[in-house]
Amino acid sequence: TVILEASDLTKSYGDTHALAGVSLQVQAGEALAIMGASGSGKSTLLHVLAGILTPDSGRVELHRSAASGGDEPAVSIGELNDAERSKLRRETFGFVFQQGLLVPELTAVENAALPLMLSGVPRAEAEQRAAGWLAALGLSGLEQRRIGQLSGGQAQRVAVARAQVISPLVVFADEPTGALDSATSADVMDALIGSTTGRGRTLVVVTHDEGVAARCTRTVRVRDGRVVETRSKVAGMDYI
Ligand code: ADP
Ligand code: ADP
Repeated sequence: TVILEASDLTKSYGDTHALAGVSLQVQAGEALAIMGASGSGKSTLLHVLAGILTPDSGRVELHRSAASGGDEPAVSIGELNDAERSKLRRETFGFVFQQGLLVPELTAVENAALPLMLSGVPRAEAEQRAAGWLAALGLSGLEQRRIGQLSGGQAQRVAVARAQVISPLVVFADEPTGALDSATSADVMDALIGSTTGRGRTLVVVTHDEGVAARCTRTVRVRDGRVVETRSKVAGMDYI
């Protein structure tokens, strides 16, 4: 069942058509890789899907019912005001970026607990839940390290923990392994996929790394702001 549905998205920066009419359905529980050359529009598409960036035209709908099994009506993300949209992002989506955007002055567990603290969860409980995620991601014993005292792969797993603590419906990742060597990249992707689709949640990952895409269940390719090709490893999962 479809959890995110994008229709006819366009987005231009001056004369640059970053998105030139993209329609895309994301299925609940899949790991979708968005590939394409640098400048093809991948990041713009991810940011629009996640409600970070507003398209010039077209719409993105979130179907919570696809994850909950309930009957909540679809939410059209573009029709929310700024406050509603940031609330939706904070409560529904997790984010992992290339450079983690972790706070260097804070420890691993404090970083991972941040989204919960921002949602008003008391510090002790937030850190306890964050520590649980760190353990699940193989980081037991490193909770009190500052980010600078971790390897690149460990720091990215802290970023994965931070994305997962709120139990998001969808995790968005933009080149999450872009700064890592290929062995570490594989470990981080396994942690990211295991903690997302391994728990029935949905992953959308922008990458130009074939090894990353190979770990996903489906790949779409973006060229000049259009989706030009899809490839699926799962029969019956090829749809755009
Ligand atoms: P990708 O993620 O595939 O590298 P992007 O979505 O970042 O592609 O960019 C698509 C196109 O839009 C590129 O030509 C890029 O230079 C342009 N672009 C992206 N963001 C901006 C911006 N804020 N201002 C101007 N041009 C932008
Ligand atoms: P990546 O493809 O790794 O995401 P980019 O360099 O394409 O990195 O874009 C990083 C961010 O910089 C984009 O999300 C966009 O907001 C901004 N950006 C990209 N291209 C331009 C540009 N030509 N002019 C201004 N800002 C840009």
